[in-house]
Amino acid sequence: MEFILTLIYLVASITYILGLKMLGHPKTARKGNLIAAFGMGIAIIGTIFIYPKEVPMMIYVLIGIAILIGTIIGWLVAKKVAMTKMPELVSIFNGMGGASAALIGLIEFHHYQGQTLSIVTILAGLIIGSISFSGSMIAWGKLNGTINKPIRIPKYNIINNLFFIVLVAFAGFIAYQGIDSQLYLYVLFVGALAYGVLFVLPIGGADMPVVISLLNSFTGLAAALGGFLYGNMVMLTGGILVGSAGTILTFAMCDAMNRSLSSVIFGAFGATTSTATDEASRKIKGNIKETTPSDVAILMNYANKVIIIPGYGLAVAQAQHIIHELEELLIKKGVEVKYAIHPVAGRMPGHMNVLLAETNVSYDRLIEMEDINPEFPNTDVVFVVGANDVVNPAAHNDPSSPIYGMPILEAENAKYIVVNKRSMKPGYAGIENELFYNQKTSMLFGDAKDALGKLVSELKNM
Ligand code: NDP
Repeated sequence: MEFILTLIYLVASITYILGLKMLGHPKTARKGNLIAAFGMGIAIIGTIFIYPKEVPMMIYVLIGIAILIGTIIGWLVAKKVAMTKMPELVSIFNGMGGASAALIGLIEFHHYQGQTLSIVTILAGLIIGSISFSGSMIAWGKLNGTINKPIRIPKYNIINNLFFIVLVAFAGFIAYQGIDSQLYLYVLFVGALAYGVLFVLPIGGADMPVVISLLNSFTGLAAALGGFLYGNMVMLTGGILVGSAGTILTFAMCDAMNRSLSSVIFGAFGATTSTATDEASRKIKGNIKETTPSDVAILMNYANKVIIIPGYGLAVAQAQHIIHELEELLIKKGVEVKYAIHPVAGRMPGHMNVLLAETNVSYDRLIEMEDINPEFPNTDVVFVVGANDVVNPAAHNDPSSPIYGMPILEAENAKYIVVNKRSMKPGYAGIENELFYNQKTSMLFGDAKDALGKLVSELKNM
């Protein structure tokens, strides 16, 4: 039986690696997800039914009920969630992973007394899992707008760091002294939860995606510690994969925003925003030019090359289908059409890819930032749909801007720029955008779905 279980774990571990690899491309992502989910399924079933240990019947019943409740909630939530709410869902799921790892720590602490290495592993898993849980809940609150401002107490960096050092020292004390106390364990647990809150609360604005992937890697690490504790290879592999994938993503996101991880955690991106916004707004002078769907249709009809820059607003408006229709229409008319994808466009990594994949946009048309930027100078029309920060030239031109240094899609280099959004309101980072005041830019105001609908019908009549 043990051999069969080992075999199941091996197969499951392989499916995780395979699944993760397949997630790397939109064409294979769905299948990769299913393969990894299958692996997770057999690992769970194998662990419940083949694990060589006597378990009372009642435990099976409880596990069954828990799985049933979890499956129903997970299924319903995932089915119902709107694309724009996906990052919130990801942070909740991630938080649940952290909570599970923390629960392992709470339950197993007393069972491993006298085994220092195991106790250290348990306490580390408890701390990391708890931070991941409470931090993810705060991130969830921030993403859905419940917590709409970074909250910073004076000298929060120093206080947070001291708090963390005290927390680790306390855990070290428990392990070193071999203290088997429920009270100490709960104090550590509550302390770690509080640190998770303190850690995420001050982080604001455009830095949230980095924090979410960082918390994701924490959850992976906490799960891996669980795997190490139990000598369970599949848990270890799964945890390490989540941990390392989360870490790689964290650094990739930092790169995409040109920010170091320490400046995300310790720097005050959002704090500088309000003053920098005022300053940037004062600097931006000039008028905006408004346009109409019929004018944009004429412009596009006679263009040789159109690049579409999708952003968060496209997802909000659920305009992915209509933009695909526009693309097909233009292609029929002999126009070359591409999509320029910024790594942090939208509200989660890969948001635009997922959104456009839903409507079967051909992947060859989705071009990443480094590859598309050199193409803008010989592009007739850039069509910015519900994007803002990712095309803000202040990132290049204004050293006082909070997004200075962040790589952007260089839309301003095209011959004409059309921007669709509903108003002159700023984007996620809360800063003004001088692109809208550019001589070459025309603003097509309105909800993306409406505006694109009108544009498509104008084009059809040409
Ligand atoms: P932005 O948030 O900068 O801008 C989106 C724009 O869309 C807004 O200016 C808004 O203007 C417009 N908009 C909203 N609703 C609609 C609608 N129905 N129709 C038309 N337009 C609409 O988005 P970007 O994608 O350009 O940039 C992403 C930002 O989000 C970056 O700052 C990034 O760091 C941050 N972020 C990214 C995450 C990621 O992982 N990708 C996660 C979290 C944040 P108006 O209100 O006038 O319509």
